Amino acid sequence: MTQTQHTPELAKKCQKIQRILDATIGSPDVPLDHSDPYTLLVAVLLSAQCTDVRVNQVTPQLFALAQTPHAMALQSVEVVRAIIRPCGLSPQKAAAIVGLSQILCAEHDGHVPNDIEALERLPGVGHKTAQVVLAQSFGVPTFPVDTHIHRLATRWRLTSGSSVTQTERDLKALFPREHWNKLHLQIIWFGRKFCPARGHDPSGCPICSWAA
Ligand code: SF4
Repeated sequence: MTQTQHTPELAKKCQKIQRILDATIGSPDVPLDHSDPYTLLVAVLLSAQCTDVRVNQVTPQLFALAQTPHAMALQSVEVVRAIIRPCGLSPQKAAAIVGLSQILCAEHDGHVPNDIEALERLPGVGHKTAQVVLAQSFGVPTFPVDTHIHRLATRWRLTSGSSVTQTERDLKALFPREHWNKLHLQIIWFGRKFCPARGHDPSGCPICSWAA
């Protein structure tokens, strides 16, 4: 895997991209409704291969049933599965939600740990999910890269696009650490605003038109 070469031109390009993101997107919120680290963790887990809109439709009913690890740990997987069915992959996601809640109670005093390795050991929690929770709930600088960020970063020639892991490494090297959490959300919202479901027209996009 080749690391993107840093040049003065690339640094200027990154600054310009940040200026445009600030102007077009501002400081966006996390798109998943939540009230604390635990409800964010569950919502991010549910968002795998599902839209955030759909997750936000399902979580009110789920959190009415249980919105703490202690309460969720007592639920049956079948009951949770019936509620989250619209999100897809419901057998795996329901087992993960109940299972991780039991582990949080047994090993973390009912709290979501502020620790990437402990988070990644939870069932259903991968590197991206763990980073989103660390960034948005604990303010830890991270740069979670999903397929949308990977695609835009590749189009903008900020990375070779060889893998999500390489994209994360390149973006972290290119942008100041204190801006990572904001940039992660800005690029997600930028994709939603400017990438239509169908069609791909770089000329109409405020960044793709010159950076691609
Ligand atoms: S040109 Fe438009 S649709 Fe294509 S990647 Fe850029 S923003 Fe998305």
